[in-house]
Amino acid sequence: MAQNDYETMDVVLVGAGIMSATLAVLLKELDPSIKLEVIELMESGAIESSNPWNNAGTGHAGLCELNYTPESADGSIDIKKSVTINTQFEESKQFWAYLVEKGRFGSPKSFINPVPHLSFVRGQEGIDYLKKRFKALTAHHAFAEMEYTEDRATMAKWMPLMMPGRDPHEPIAATRVLAGTDVNFGTLTKHLLDHLGQQADAKVTCSQKVIGLKRNTQGWRVSIKNLQNGSIREVQSKFVFLGAGGAALPLLQMSGIPEGKGFGGFPVSGQWLRCDNPEVVKQHQAKVYSQAEVGSPPMSVPHLDTRMVDGKTSLLFGPYAGFSTKFLRHGSFLDLPLSVRPNNIGPMLAVARDNFDLTRYLVKEVLQSEEQRLQTLRGFYPEAKAEDWRLEMAGQRVQIIKKDPKHGGILQFGTELVAAADGSIAALLGASPGASVTVSIMLDLIQRCFPEQAKSAQWSSKLNEIFPAMGKVLASDAERYREVQARSDALLQLEPLEQPVSA
Ligand SMILES: Cc1cc2nc3c(=O)[nH]c(=O)nc-3n(C[C@H](O)[C@H](O)[C@H](O)COP(=O)(O)OP(=O)(O)OC[C@H]3O[C@@H](n4cnc5c(N)ncnc54)[C@H](O)[C@@H]3O)c2cc1C
Repeated sequence: MAQNDYETMDVVLVGAGIMSATLAVLLKELDPSIKLEVIELMESGAIESSNPWNNAGTGHAGLCELNYTPESADGSIDIKKSVTINTQFEESKQFWAYLVEKGRFGSPKSFINPVPHLSFVRGQEGIDYLKKRFKALTAHHAFAEMEYTEDRATMAKWMPLMMPGRDPHEPIAATRVLAGTDVNFGTLTKHLLDHLGQQADAKVTCSQKVIGLKRNTQGWRVSIKNLQNGSIREVQSKFVFLGAGGAALPLLQMSGIPEGKGFGGFPVSGQWLRCDNPEVVKQHQAKVYSQAEVGSPPMSVPHLDTRMVDGKTSLLFGPYAGFSTKFLRHGSFLDLPLSVRPNNIGPMLAVARDNFDLTRYLVKEVLQSEEQRLQTLRGFYPEAKAEDWRLEMAGQRVQIIKKDPKHGGILQFGTELVAAADGSIAALLGASPGASVTVSIMLDLIQRCFPEQAKSAQWSSKLNEIFPAMGKVLASDAERYREVQARSDALLQLEPLEQPVSA
């Protein structure tokens, strides 16, 4: 290719995980004439965090995650985060249901299945909290179906694997929502990429790495290296999305936009215990979340999960946290040191100073022996046998470090969309609650980076067709919530597994 040769695109998306795949499909639905390319450095999409074995596959809907419902100083339970995530997950479901209804998107069972979501607590303090949480949540229509029990016989029905061998005198309690889900975000990403590949002017290119970003009057000049033959090509694009997972931070820094200054990344790696023994697996049909240890980051809340991947069911327990300086599982140990800049060193040092509990927690996790990991598992499954479980690596999460006027820098556990003021580039930083709320994140991106188009008759009417009701309406209108949820559930074949058992 001659030096001045370049291809032109309306949109370039860096990375072929769930985020880029969702945005690309959404944009093509809104305007089929958009010319776009997804560029992925690995040999196929969904190899990093979106791979089903790199994440827990929980369809986060605020049903079981105790860290979404903190107890306020006055003892009341704040349910705002649960409501937001629940309604965002319903937005995701509407998008997936729309694509399934259109056809040519594969069976919904290949990527989403009903699995009850349970919260499980031990000790009187935990019980008092869970009871209050249950009362606060069930007052909202999104959680009206939640059940609560302290009765061991009921719990033995809800989670048969977890009761035998348990101290009969230990106070325990649980809540259950039958309408929880397990999502294979890897298969979903692949369906989205395949769907894209069938359309005109949409390309998914693998084994190519974005190595340069330069702003110009028409948008961005993107330099791309072919990892098979070493050649470099250029693409001129009006808009660029940095959907590179943990590697979005270095790309944001490479773009040099002022909005990206002051951000840093704190990588946390993870491991799971995985069990494929069918005799064990069949005794647990649930995602059971419990309380996090004091000082541990919210994403380290332990959970015992049914996982349904490629037609097979397994159990996952964890995650056990670890520390690695890589920003991607397949990244480089230099990722963290190379991300340090004069504009983020202050926030990074402030975070190191103010998060001693987290450091202590990570050191403890990294030094854990196999027996200690099994002991943690036995808090859930007292009769767990070592031979049924094997340790596997999970995906890498890069938590956000950002400037804070009061503390100098803070560590943020959610996700953050950082966009240029002119809307020509946006990066998604952070990891949690992640894939479940991808659609809401991308709707936000569209409002911020495509404001004029979003207001147009064409885009508004398409958005109304795809999303019969958005989050705010779902959060406040019980009847509409039930109608829209029932429609999505029917299209996604999410029939609840059984009728609730009253405690
Ligand atoms: C341990 C763990 C458990 C989780 N559990 C859940 C859960 O239960 N439920 C949930 O909803 N979410 C969960 N998440 C979060 C979820 O997995 C992520 O939010 C989501 O997968 C992120 O998708 P992504 O597309 O941003 O990134 P990724 O899937 O990581 O994709 C980014 C892609 O960009 C590519 N890339 C990077 N740099 C470049 C470059 N320069 N050029 C080209 N390509 C590049 C990478 O190779 C990669 O394929 C979990 C995450 C982890 C790590």
